Amino acid sequence: MAWALRARDRKVLVVDRGQRVTSSKVAAGIINPVTGPNLTKAWRFEQLWPAALSFYRSIQEQTGRQIFHQMPLVRLLDSGQQANKWSRRLQTPGYAECLAACPLDPGKNLRAEYGALTFDHAGYLDIREFITLTRDLLGDNWRNGELLEAEADGITLFCEGIAGAANPLFEWLPFKPAKGEILTLHIPGLEQDRIVNRGGVWLLPVGGEKFRCGATYHWGATDCEPTPEGRQEIETRLGRLLQLSHEVVDHEAAVRPVVRESRLLCGMHPAHGRIGFFNGLGSKGVLSAPFFAENFAEHLCGRGAIDPEVDLCRNI
Ligand SMILES: Cc1cc2nc3c(=O)[nH]c(=O)nc-3n(C[C@H](O)[C@H](O)[C@H](O)COP(=O)(O)OP(=O)(O)OC[C@H]3O[C@@H](n4cnc5c(N)ncnc54)[C@H](O)[C@@H]3O)c2cc1C
Repeated sequence: MAWALRARDRKVLVVDRGQRVTSSKVAAGIINPVTGPNLTKAWRFEQLWPAALSFYRSIQEQTGRQIFHQMPLVRLLDSGQQANKWSRRLQTPGYAECLAACPLDPGKNLRAEYGALTFDHAGYLDIREFITLTRDLLGDNWRNGELLEAEADGITLFCEGIAGAANPLFEWLPFKPAKGEILTLHIPGLEQDRIVNRGGVWLLPVGGEKFRCGATYHWGATDCEPTPEGRQEIETRLGRLLQLSHEVVDHEAAVRPVVRESRLLCGMHPAHGRIGFFNGLGSKGVLSAPFFAENFAEHLCGRGAIDPEVDLCRNI
């Protein structure tokens, strides 16, 4: 929101607690066009993907720092049944367009006995770097601290992630916390420069022989403690994807802010005209935030309506 508003010449002050562990700081930041056992295309992907790409690229051009890494994603199929499902999916408009023009060989050391799909329109945002860069750019207009109430001047937007569930102004919203655990692995001998995904687990190459690997979903849990069960769940699933052994070098957890599955919500508070909300990014924040931040910023500048599918006042 800060970037979208500044691009429209609005003065922005960000107030942030600066917590070490947040959903954004723990997330892998992956954009994956087709997910889940049913190989479902992400909601409004055709629209959200180009918007995200142009948003992150424009920030890279303005700052000279790389934050978004476009990278193919290889989806290993789980069964013959799933392969048939994909053939049927291809009859639905929008699915064939997700596939890379030239399918890639999944590469060595992966379990690809039922075949694989390759998607070009994928990648990851280095969210920690994006936050650091934003803070550096804003300088004095980034304040570490607690935002307790609306500022006297201007408009106050609450973009609080899961902490929004405790905001008395928005306690009527049905937040559904979804704790996620994620590992960082050292995998000697794995040469892989694409994201690989199979049966509820993915591997993201982050340099050297290091990979991020995740993630769990624990609905209703609100703590950020990594657990032995979470680690076990990820490692068990990884065994279905990879033939090599690994070493765990880090294990983190945080809570995804979900209000409605896979769709964020934004807009003005129904009773307070100068208080707004941008939250519920769920597990697809990197894909969906740019498009809807631009849309909300346009609205705040008096140009057009909030997209009806995400407008806070129309969807609750
Ligand atoms: C394990 C895991 C893996 C994930 N993987 C992906 C992925 O691959 N792709 C993807 O798109 N998404 C992923 N996500 C989800 C992603 O993290 C979220 O969609 C997104 O980062 C949420 O961003 P946010 O800014 O809304 O919330 P947050 O990241 O929680 O940020 C909210 C900020 O507001 C601050 N704050 C809150 N209240 C106040 C207050 N009153 N005053 C001052 N500051 C306040 C907090 O300190 C925090 O800095 C993952 C999440 C997890 C946990």
